[in-house]
Order: sequence, then structure tokens, then C-alpha cells
Amino acid sequence: MGKVYLVGAGPGDPELLTLKAMRLLKTADVVIYDRLCNPLFLHLTKRTAKLIYCGKKPYHHAMKQEKINEALVEYGKSEGEIVRLKGGDPSIFGRVREEIDCLERAKLPYEIVPGITAASGAAAYAGVTLTDRESSSHVTLSTAHRKGDHGESEQMAGFTKHGTACFYMGMENLPFIKKKLLEQAVALDLPVAIISWGSYGRQKKIVGTLSSIEQLVEQADLINPALIIAGDVVSRAPAESWFEKLPLFGKKILYITEKPFSFEKMVEFTSRGADIWFQEVGPNRDKRFDALTKKFLKENDFTDFYFENEGSEALFKTKC
Ligand code: SAH
Repeated sequence: MGKVYLVGAGPGDPELLTLKAMRLLKTADVVIYDRLCNPLFLHLTKRTAKLIYCGKKPYHHAMKQEKINEALVEYGKSEGEIVRLKGGDPSIFGRVREEIDCLERAKLPYEIVPGITAASGAAAYAGVTLTDRESSSHVTLSTAHRKGDHGESEQMAGFTKHGTACFYMGMENLPFIKKKLLEQAVALDLPVAIISWGSYGRQKKIVGTLSSIEQLVEQADLINPALIIAGDVVSRAPAESWFEKLPLFGKKILYITEKPFSFEKMVEFTSRGADIWFQEVGPNRDKRFDALTKKFLKENDFTDFYFENEGSEALFKTKC
């Protein structure tokens, strides 16, 4: 019988992966992963490990939750170590309860490995502190939609003027969030930040108020995944965060290499703020990544290119 690990992958920056998550990825036989996990983490797995995508765009599921639950139980019964990799922390809007219930029913052993949730990651990398002795004594984490219910019953009673409210999956529901916040007697000039792709080199941030934020989103063309933070803590953050000031922030690098993927090499770039994609090429490449790479290249553009040959340290860099 196998064992299932329900693992949080953190918000995206490779160095926010926990040591435990890294160890489990290295030994896993099967990895079932979500859209919001940094896919480069999959390079940590053994070449023999099976990689199964069950990613979700809001409202578009590659695999229905019931199917994911079934797969966990099936693989858990037959294979060795199964890692169910989820973005952020598995217990925060990660539907992990449903998966645990299935594993319990099937009497399969499992462990939960927490991760850094998007609110912590995106706030830190946007220079926002979630609490602050001057202006915020508590934080609420909410989602603007729930299972089978995209509407009115969501309540935000936890929010007050002296708190910070973080909204997950809220981009499609900004007018609703605004309405609910106003019901809590907050002012229209309540500071609001939206951080998309927090902690990745492609992070984008807009800062406004409850009254201006919808228009700012339209102008900035912000995309999911994005986290909404409302509260006075937002106005106390510097316009440009420590992360946005890193020397390679804004660079989108495509690193094409005949050598095997190197986590350390990736961190050389991401720790200086860059967004990076690794593409192994040549007959020895890990072919499990071909489809992923194809998809990634279709959806992204790049500012810088690196080419690395097998057997040579020489690196050629061109700009487009
Ligand atoms: N379990 C995850 C949340 C899953 S819900 C966690 O703990 O972070 C998915 C939502 O999380 C997205 O719609 C978005 O609101 C938020 N999110 C996840 N990763 C993010 C990131 N890197 N930057 C900003 N928001 C993110």
C-alpha cells in the first residue's frame, strides 16, 4: 500500500518551497499537481515518476474534484509515494478536506505538509505587512465564491476598519467584494492592493482604493492568479517593494539547455527577481516536460534568452 502526501508548494518563488516538500518531490512515484504550483518544481522528481496534471483555471477543471479523489485512492492503493501538490497551503481554499475524507474512508495513510499561502507570499513580495501595530490587529482570509454558491451567502463579517482582508479567487467578483466591504461600514477610500502572480518575477501590483480599484484593474489588465488585500496596511507599504527593486525584476528569461535542469541555477535568477522558464533540449531531455513547455511558451513571452551546451560552461545570452 502506498502513502499519500498532501503538499503545499507555496506561492511560486522556488525558495519558498519547504525542505519537506522538496524531499517528498524527490522521492515521489506519482505527483498529482495543480495549475498554481510552479511547474518547474516537477523537475525535482525522479525521471520515472508519473506526473498528472489536474489543474484548474477558475471554473475550468482539467479533472473534476471527484476524479482527483478517486485517483488519490487508486494510486495510493497501488503505488509507493503519492504527492498531491497544491499551490500555497493545501488547507487554505485547497479542497484538501474532501481529499482527506476520501483517504480516511479508504483507510490509506497520509500526511499533510503545509506551505506558504498566497496571502503571506504575495503580501511580503509586494512589501505589505498583513498586520501592523498602528492599523491592523487581525487578518481575514476569504474567498469570494464557495462550493456550489457564487453569491450572496458569502459573509465578510470578520472584517472591520482595523483589520486586513485578503480575498482569494476574487478577481471575477470585485463588485461583490466592494459591496460586502461597504456593508461593513468601511469608507470608499479604504486602501486596496491587487497582486497578481505574487512572488514570481512576473508579479504585477496595483494599488488604489475601494472606489478606484475596478477601473485600475481594467487599465492594468491584471490576470489571475491574483490576491486582493484591503486595509490600511496597504497604504503603509512603499510604492516599490524590496522584491520589485531586485536587479532582474521584470526580466522574463527563457533558459534553453542541453544539461539537466538545475534547481540551484534557477535560484541564481529567481533570487535576483527574474521570471524564468527552463527548457531542456536534445535527445536526453526529460520528455515529460515537452507538453508543459509547449503550453508555457504559447502563453508567455520573454525578454532574455540563454543557451547552454552540454559539456560547456559557455553561456550565450541574446536579447530579443
Ligand atoms: N491553497 C492556495 C490558494 C488556492 S485558491 C494558497 O494557500 O495560496 C487560488 C487563489 O489563490 C487564486 O485565485 C489567487 O487568489 C490566490 N493565489 C494563489 N497563488 C497566488 C500568487 N502567486 N499570487 C497571487 N495570488 C495567488
